[in-house]
Amino acid sequence: MTHIYLDYNASAPLHPDAWAVMEPVLKVQGGAHNASAVHHYGRAGRKIVEDARRHVAQLVGADVNQVIFNSGATEGNNTVLRHFSETYADEVILVSSIEHPSVLEGLEAHGRIQCVPVDGDGRIRLDALEEMLSGEGKVSLLSCMAVNNETGVIQDIASLSALAHRHGALFHCDATQAAGRIPVDMKALGIDFLTLSSHKIGGPQGVGALVLGLCGQTPKLLFGGGQEKSTRAGTENVAGIAGFGAAAGAVLAGLEDYQGLAALRDRLEVELKAISPEIIIHSKDALRVVNTSFFSLAGANAQSMLMALDLEGIAVSNGSACSSGSVKPSITLKAMGQSAEIASSALRVSIGWDTKEGDIDAFLSAWTKIYSRIKVG
Ligand code: PMP
Repeated sequence: MTHIYLDYNASAPLHPDAWAVMEPVLKVQGGAHNASAVHHYGRAGRKIVEDARRHVAQLVGADVNQVIFNSGATEGNNTVLRHFSETYADEVILVSSIEHPSVLEGLEAHGRIQCVPVDGDGRIRLDALEEMLSGEGKVSLLSCMAVNNETGVIQDIASLSALAHRHGALFHCDATQAAGRIPVDMKALGIDFLTLSSHKIGGPQGVGALVLGLCGQTPKLLFGGGQEKSTRAGTENVAGIAGFGAAAGAVLAGLEDYQGLAALRDRLEVELKAISPEIIIHSKDALRVVNTSFFSLAGANAQSMLMALDLEGIAVSNGSACSSGSVKPSITLKAMGQSAEIASSALRVSIGWDTKEGDIDAFLSAWTKIYSRIKVG
């Protein structure tokens, strides 16, 4: 059976440009390029890391010295949120109610986290935010994602950061699902801390970056060696960073062409609606990235649907797969005010650089089969 992968928001397949730079790194000396070593191999490793840093900086409109490589977006988010919860223990931290768990969880000890609500389409409510910023207690940080991993909704980052700054707070943006899909210019958007993950843009897993703005603060999570100018200890993952850099270069060069995926996504949604008229396509009226479609068939159980699609050779997701592999109701849909039934029946199709028209055909024919079974049953 051929397997069709439509789960790019969970992890994108490795881009050929990434593999092309990773393969030689992994082969030479078993990949033993400790980029801090003074010998020939160390110097070669250093050059690879610095080339990649240039590509990642360009992707988000930053300077090379603003980019700190780390293990991915979970680490980036933890680093920033933990820094603010410890350094400004008496101040309020505001996060949107649809953030990734790596932003929302683990801060119970802080006790002064407040969630900014979203509207029915999943847009962060600027009116509510303004009120919260003007409320009691000084706010140290506002953390909002640029693009939601489940709905694909693009947030108004420039307005969010401007509001935060007007009230004396700094602004953190998890741009994991935005990079390579929409233009991201840190300076123009007023971002003080930006989180990136390699494997969402066609690089390898286990690598990412925290990009610092110009506010002068440097949050740190790991201590030990003096890597990354003493901002993030631990031997650099040279092959991973090489792949991340190449993927960053590829997605930036392909940003315009990427928008062509809208035709595939829109066709998918039109035909889904024709096959199953009662389907709800979430956030259809909001500005979304072109690769994501998130929908619910009320009454259908997401886990059963995922398994049925998998048996037909189609890999999709419910939007918020957790590490145990089990399926939980969508956090984002609950925040958007949807019922438990709708939040438990949501499925996400997310496409990318290797998706073809035929993949959408295959999804639709599997969907037709499964849908008619549900209707008969
Ligand atoms: N933030 C968002 C918006 C994400 O979608 C993800 C991945 N699901 C993460 C953070 C965590 O990324 P990583 O896998 O690099 O830790």
